[in-house]
Amino acid sequence: MNVYESYVEKIIWGYKASDKSVLGAVTDISIGYIKKFLQCNVCPFCGRVYKNRRSLRFHLIHNSVCRDLYKSSIKYAVDVYVMLRRYIVRLSTPKRNGVALDLPSRARIKFRNKQELAEWIRSHKDEIISLFPMV
Ligand SMILES: [Zn+2]
Repeated sequence: MNVYESYVEKIIWGYKASDKSVLGAVTDISIGYIKKFLQCNVCPFCGRVYKNRRSLRFHLIHNSVCRDLYKSSIKYAVDVYVMLRRYIVRLSTPKRNGVALDLPSRARIKFRNKQELAEWIRSHKDEIISLFPMV
């Protein structure tokens, strides 16, 4: 697992409660539904209910079908993040460090900081997911 994948894992298991990062926003819009299952100790892929998170984690490590789906979901969130990052431009002036998003479908959108960009991502879920659909 790379550093992005382990960050995504922390988010979907709820270890990062108030995440305002771009990767956090991308995780929520791409595989946010998984988070809800994990928090209820339900496997998002086969629907089995577990007594606790420990036994659910054990299942996601040892059941080969669910493990593969779990891993590919995490990989998908990271892929969306890596692809989206290509369209993020740093805007540095002596006074501020803004960012802009240069999506192929839109004119440049400017943000004061990455947190503002993350909020925009959360409110434009369908638009972003349609650019990077799961294959
Ligand atoms: Zn399962």
